[in-house]
Amino acid sequence: MSEQQNFDVIVIGAGPAGYHAAIRAAQLGLKTACIDAALGKDGKPALGGTCLRVGCVPSKALLDSSRQYYNLQHLFGEHGITTKDAKIDVGTMIGRKDKIVKQFTGGIAMLFKANKITPFYGFGQLQPGNVVTVKQHDGSTVELKATNVILAAGSDSIELPFAKFDGENIVDNVGALDFTETPKRLGVIGAGVIGLELGSVWKRLGAEVTVLEALPDFLAAADSEIAKVAAKEFKKQGLDIKLGAKVSNTEIKSKGKAKEVVVTYTDAEGEKTLTVDKLLVSVGRRAATKGLLADGTGVKLDARGMIEVDAHCHTGVNGVWAVGDCVRGPMLAHKGFEEGIAVAELIAGLPGHVNLDTIPWVIYTEPEIAWVGKTEQQLKAEGTPYKVGTFPFAAIARAVAMGEPAGLVKVIAHEETDLILGMHLVGVGVSELVHEGVLAMEFKGSADDLARICHAHPTLSEAIHDAAMAVSKRAIHKAN
Ligand code: FAD
Ligand code: NAD
Repeated sequence: MSEQQNFDVIVIGAGPAGYHAAIRAAQLGLKTACIDAALGKDGKPALGGTCLRVGCVPSKALLDSSRQYYNLQHLFGEHGITTKDAKIDVGTMIGRKDKIVKQFTGGIAMLFKANKITPFYGFGQLQPGNVVTVKQHDGSTVELKATNVILAAGSDSIELPFAKFDGENIVDNVGALDFTETPKRLGVIGAGVIGLELGSVWKRLGAEVTVLEALPDFLAAADSEIAKVAAKEFKKQGLDIKLGAKVSNTEIKSKGKAKEVVVTYTDAEGEKTLTVDKLLVSVGRRAATKGLLADGTGVKLDARGMIEVDAHCHTGVNGVWAVGDCVRGPMLAHKGFEEGIAVAELIAGLPGHVNLDTIPWVIYTEPEIAWVGKTEQQLKAEGTPYKVGTFPFAAIARAVAMGEPAGLVKVIAHEETDLILGMHLVGVGVSELVHEGVLAMEFKGSADDLARICHAHPTLSEAIHDAAMAVSKRAIHKAN
């Protein structure tokens, strides 16, 4: 092993949480190293983590390609735009996605260079005393030491014991982002975020998609009124979502030269089978902490394998921090961004904090689903008095002009103080609109504040304005 190298900060993992931590630490004048084990499709190191390689970015590229294709067939007609024999070349679509991934993973390498961050490509392990060993891809090992180590190892897909990934017929997000052709029949286990987004991609391209969800309620994490509207729209699109469906077995069978997967599940009517060409298993993710910690580091994992941290992402071990998907809180890239920045600033002696109560959620389906803050069912359960204002996109001129009138905005405010407690949206463009709610909540805004702020006409954001006015029963464009 070569001589030990010293840094102010070592970051293990160059995903959204890790690369933000590394860049901010370097901006603050700290000598920083960042280690990442991942390889891209070309077998070369690729920075950016799950998000850039096999998560947020590639999924949005495919969502956009498939949306264009779907709209060409289903939406353009009403504008008088017709075309004969629209076709999609899946290879070209995947190639476009790969190009975008390469652009962004390469972008992180350039940012590291510009900020003088030393990258190490290989598997990092924390040793006692803030030492980190890196087993590099060429087989050599290097030893690093730093005053502060930030663990940003991210997460991996959960595998079901009766549906093991084979990379061919039973896949996770990695496989489902790389099908070489549209499967005739796609099964999805789990109607969560990945199941809905990637299920939508392949449905729009012509696959018959059946989603098996164990829970009796659809999108239990979302506000139930929003989930209901979304479920209705997905049904119209032909996504077959079966609730209360518990999968107990899968079997890969030969069908001529090809293979198919027979999935056994039980619902309220008893045991059933579903036969598909490809099966996507998207039942959640777990912290990627396997092998990350050598014996004796003192860093603790909780029952789910997540690294235990306090409100400031400190592990309780001197100089050891953890951020992103490998710690509590929502597994979202932007939550990791904020934690990475906050920890780097805390290390540099600045104030740093992340408010987990105002992290926005977005599901990039059509219509999009987004929210910030508490749902009506959460407020009911905790006994907080609240009032609600809703407004449908069907009464918003811009949404109707765009041919996308589905959905609504719901603003929930405290019954007495009028402070905004949550904003829930389903409809066109709500991935952007939700930030008005985030901003209002961060500034401790009330529904009345939003109602008194001028919104341009005709825009989609008028739905927020009217929903805020509806909280006090003064919406102009609907009966209160
Ligand atoms: P990761 O992105 O997982 O990065 C961790 C990195 O650390 C990886 O590169 C890994 O190889 C490396 N690593 C781990 N252990 C070691 C080790 N011991 N040594 C060296 N390197 C190591 N979130 C959103 O906010 N919006 C979205 O639209 C969105 N879409 C998604 C779509 C899909 C299909 C998936 C799977 C996820 C999506 N997510 C989305 C979630 C998002 O990708 C994660 O929340 C985010 O990537 C977490 O960032 P992270 O830095 O904590 O971890
Ligand atoms: P998820 O937690 O969103 O959904 C998993 C779903 O699977 C749940 O509805 C759960 O009830 C169901 N389930 C669990 N076990 C099951 C079983 N045995 N049979 C049938 N259903 C079962 O998980 P995901 O879709 O795998 O995504 C993982 C995480 O990645 C998300 O929670 C999110 O944090 C992140 N992500 C975010 C985005 C985004 O922000 N747009 C997109 C994709 C992924």
